[in-house]
Amino acid sequence: MNLVKTENEINLIRESSLLVGKTLAEVARNISPGIQTQKLDQIAEQFIRDHGAVPGFKGYNGFPFTLCISVNENVVHGFPSARELIDGDIVSVDCGVLMNGFYGDSAYTFAVGDVNEETLALLNRTRESLYKGIEKAVAGNRIGDIGFAIQSFVEDFGYGVVRDLVGHGLGKNLHEKPEVPNFGRRGKGPKLVEGMVLAIEPMVNLGDKRVVQESDGWTFRTVDRKPSAHFEHDVVIRKGQAEILSTFDFIEEVLNNKLN
Ligand code: MG
Ligand code: MG
Repeated sequence: MNLVKTENEINLIRESSLLVGKTLAEVARNISPGIQTQKLDQIAEQFIRDHGAVPGFKGYNGFPFTLCISVNENVVHGFPSARELIDGDIVSVDCGVLMNGFYGDSAYTFAVGDVNEETLALLNRTRESLYKGIEKAVAGNRIGDIGFAIQSFVEDFGYGVVRDLVGHGLGKNLHEKPEVPNFGRRGKGPKLVEGMVLAIEPMVNLGDKRVVQESDGWTFRTVDRKPSAHFEHDVVIRKGQAEILSTFDFIEEVLNNKLN
């Protein structure tokens, strides 16, 4: 598998990644106390299909839904369900689409209503750690530089970085090489080459870094049941500065309008 993409392939991944961002904005529009998480899944699936794409996760290794929805102590790979969100929840929503043969994959953790300050800080810092990692995702660096930047930033706040789950390459397949851990050592791991496309996705726990998998065979949750946050962008390795293919702009425009 060639890990370096052509500009034409990168354009297609960008289109898929942008559709993910717009889909997550639809989620943002509808997320509020009282909504069932399966309703968000239906909205997302309809939106993706209306735009000529197919949900990237549905059927992937048997995953049954369009979105991974992981509430509070659930880290990733949670199932949408009849569970109603309540004031104070945080919700990781991870979305993938497949369009024109290429995947997009991005995640955002939403605050539902009034979330306590400690948990809000976890969200903000996890989001920030993603950009710290992206800063190091440049040609000539190594995978370990990304993980080190994320890990050292969040561990300064006493948070735990999930070890069991990692970011990945992205293209015609949802998960390609190389793995992109959110922890690591500077100067270690595979070299970053211009044109590689990576999904970088820190999963950061308020407490203990350890996670366990629930009996549904998918959902990961924190061992100590403290909350966990998750943000994900697709980026292409360039010289000097990575290009971010996905976007939170559509999401945050909706969230800002909701506040006003
Ligand atoms: Mg994802
Ligand atoms: Mg991913």
